[in-house]
Amino acid sequence: AFKRDNCKCNRCGLKMDLKDTITVFVKDINDGGGYNFENLISLCSDCNKILNSQNPNSTISNLEVNDKLMFFVES
Ligand SMILES: [Zn+2]
Repeated sequence: AFKRDNCKCNRCGLKMDLKDTITVFVKDINDGGGYNFENLISLCSDCNKILNSQNPNSTISNLEVNDKLMFFVES
């Protein structure tokens, strides 16, 4: 997942070293998520702290916004 994301944070786009990367599940394992790449994202430690301080619903909506931004940049 880290390489797929080009060594960048999924939330802020900051380029990271592997040691600073935190891989998190988009959907919690306890909530039916799997250990697949689609369910894993890489975050920098700062964004991980921010997301952990928010409720799950706002986390998901933030990620959806990020996905749209990424698509816009790549197209
Ligand atoms: Zn970040």
